[in-house]
Formats: sequence, structure tokens, C-alpha cells
Amino acid sequence: MRRERSKTHPAAGQPRTDRTPQRQLDAYGIRGKLPDPTACPSCGAIYRDGRWAWGAAPADAHRTRCPACRRIEDDYPAGLVTISGEFAAAHAEEIRNLIHNVEEREKQEHALKRVMAIQDEEGRVLVKTTDAKLARGIGEALHHAYHGELDYRMSGAENVLRVEWKR
Ligand SMILES: [Zn+2]
Repeated sequence: MRRERSKTHPAAGQPRTDRTPQRQLDAYGIRGKLPDPTACPSCGAIYRDGRWAWGAAPADAHRTRCPACRRIEDDYPAGLVTISGEFAAAHAEEIRNLIHNVEEREKQEHALKRVMAIQDEEGRVLVKTTDAKLARGIGEALHHAYHGELDYRMSGAENVLRVEWKR
């Protein structure tokens, strides 16, 4: 059953000091009490010892979707990377490969770090991620590989980390 959700983030009404990443994760149940072990039926990640990781699920594992799969289904990213500029447009394929490589590397160790979508939007590319640190990691990898301008900002109302890279 699909959950109804308003346009505003669950943390939108919180005082500014409460908008920590931990609260953001709480909105997707990462710190909620789950039976140990729990397996995500969508991606196969296993919740065990307080964290989600890749592995084989015991047959009797509880089943519930992981926070990353819920974000993907809700189209509700924790990180957004906006890529723009002439260099970026001329090297679009290389840049996509770099993004995929960063995701593959991060996802192996951190099951909840995933790229949700890479969208072309009016001359820019928008990368949606399930994890703010993954968005930051993609921005840093782009900057490391190609230099250019890198900027971060936490979008208060939505509690999304926005990363902008331009070259
Ligand atoms: Zn999952």
C-alpha cells in the first residue's frame, strides 16, 4: 500500500537546530526499531546489528522495504547534484560513467547509498541520490577529476543536500 505524503517534508516544521541528518534519516525509518534480521524485498539488503548491508537473508527474516527503496519509490531524494556548463555538456558520457563508478564504490559498503535517477533538464543534469553523503561524494569526485566550481547547500525546508558542480 502506498503511503500518502504531503508536499512538505516531515521535518519542515521543525526548528532549524533540529534539522540534523539524523532526523532526516528518521523520516525514512533508518533508526526505527526493526526486527533483526529484516530483509528488503525490493533490493535484498539486510538489516542486522542496527544497519542495512548486503548479504544473504535467513529464511525467517522479517521483510520490509529499506529506506533507500522507500525513497526511490517516493521519488524523495536526500541529495541532489546539479551539473551544468559547456564542459559538462561536452563530456556528458564521461561524467555519467564517473557518477556510476562513485555509486558502485559507495554502494558496496553502504547499502543505502544509491543513485535514484540521472535526469537531463534544460541544459543541466540532475542527479538524485538516496543519501546526502553520496551526493557530496559525486560532487567531490567531479571536482577532483575535472576541477570547475563546486558548491553545497543544505536546503532547509526539504532537508535535502544540494550540490552544484559547474564547468
Ligand atoms: Zn531496499
